[in-house]
Amino acid sequence: MKLARIVFSEQDRNQEQASSPMPPWRAAALVAGIVFTAALFGHLTRPLGFLSTFWPANALLMGVMVRNPGWAGPLGWIGATVGYLAADFAMGGGIGVTLWLTAGNLTDAFVGYRLFQRISECDRRLEQPPSLLFLLLISFATAVVAACVSCGSLVLYFGYAPLQAFEFVLTSEFASNLVVLPVVLTAPPFAPIAKRLAASPVLRSGWSRRLQPVAALLASILAGTMIGGSAAIAIPVPAILWCALSYGVFPTALLTFGLGLWQCTVLLAQLTPGTADYAAALTSHRFGVALFSLGPIMVAVINAARAGLLAELDQAANQDSLTKALSRRAFLARSEAALGQNLTARRPIALLMLDVDRFKLINDEYGHAVGDEVLVSLAEHISARLRPDDLFGRIGGEEFAIMAPGLTQAAGLALAERLRDGCARLRVPVKGREPLRTTVSIGLVWGSAGPDCSLRHLLKRADDALYRAKRAGRDRVVDDTLQAA
Ligand code: GH3
Ligand code: MG
Ligand code: MG
Repeated sequence: MKLARIVFSEQDRNQEQASSPMPPWRAAALVAGIVFTAALFGHLTRPLGFLSTFWPANALLMGVMVRNPGWAGPLGWIGATVGYLAADFAMGGGIGVTLWLTAGNLTDAFVGYRLFQRISECDRRLEQPPSLLFLLLISFATAVVAACVSCGSLVLYFGYAPLQAFEFVLTSEFASNLVVLPVVLTAPPFAPIAKRLAASPVLRSGWSRRLQPVAALLASILAGTMIGGSAAIAIPVPAILWCALSYGVFPTALLTFGLGLWQCTVLLAQLTPGTADYAAALTSHRFGVALFSLGPIMVAVINAARAGLLAELDQAANQDSLTKALSRRAFLARSEAALGQNLTARRPIALLMLDVDRFKLINDEYGHAVGDEVLVSLAEHISARLRPDDLFGRIGGEEFAIMAPGLTQAAGLALAERLRDGCARLRVPVKGREPLRTTVSIGLVWGSAGPDCSLRHLLKRADDALYRAKRAGRDRVVDDTLQAA
């Protein structure tokens, strides 16, 4: 099954690192805006006269600083302080409790940021299964720190018993860390998200099949809401695991975040604030939501790591290690399949056999290492000029082959000419000497439905055409049907 993945790739990481850093004042303003919005959202989840049931601001701030360490200077933290204070005052918080809770919020995010700095980049991005252990430990450690700093204010201003206050803050921070942090830590940079969503197979052909897991999730959330009770939290499990297996880590983190919010809402609707067991039930529910969210994210991380390993294995088995073209075995196997499909569909297919001219002389004069560089440059040049459906393989030392489905004869000849001309113009830099130039000869044949259209036969004819190109003086294309071009 081809999965619609939106993952954070090496390319995204390079793009993120290459983007120019934001001026500190602008970063601080952005941080203030993010914290203000998240804190305001937290305040809105507050039953009248009580503390928030879901407080995402600290986890969001921690994640934003981890993703953008350049923002985590004094100005960035001042921006965060302004965001917290502004949201609290906007909601009519008293000065004493506001300052105390803000100190707790900032300590929580700062300690988390420093702990994340101590683990590897891979673990910060949740790219391997053990990363989740770090996420769990850091989430818990920062929740304990926040509880130590803030619980006194709950005792003093909200009349909580000390242990109850400690548990309240601990579970609030622990749950929001585990629900919010995976989204922020695995989010691709904004530009690739927009680009990938536009190019995503989810939005193109087969979208109805690809949206099935998320549709199942929505249906199970609806069923959970109607059934209610403690079963509600478990009803979406199969659907969220299906999403985890289908969509990759970031979309799963996003869906788990939405599910966590829904779980909080459904469960809390069954409680009445102010009753004796409200705080105890809230604590228990938040622990449940926090640990529940680890399951789908763990499945998505393991699945992504497995897919990465399979891709590496596929590369090792099917790619030539020097030129990154297909290995001879992979080229022959895939060409056989492509030929069969094209002949059945009565589409033409072109086979090009390409050999570097007088390559032995290059090795003799410049050495084997320079010879290797020439092969790499030629292969890069050629593969950059092929279409995604074309097959390009290294089938011998300095011999390559291309299988191009669906090309008309004129287009095939033009492609061969373009490749020959491009290779002749290529200059390979050589230390202390003039850049090296080289040429290639190309034999070209056509596959069309008929009694003698096996791959073996086509390869033999392409080889003959190539031989004729060599004999005719090299640096030329010979079309098997047209003779010399
Ligand atoms: P022609 O124009 O007739 O094709 O002449 P040629 O010298 O290219 O052909 P020949 O078959 O005589 O020599 C091919 C050379 O390619 C010999 C071999 O040492 C070299 N070769 C094969 N594989 C590699 C490789 O991976 N790296 C390097 N540097 N040389 C290679
Ligand atoms: Mg050669
Ligand atoms: Mg050769």
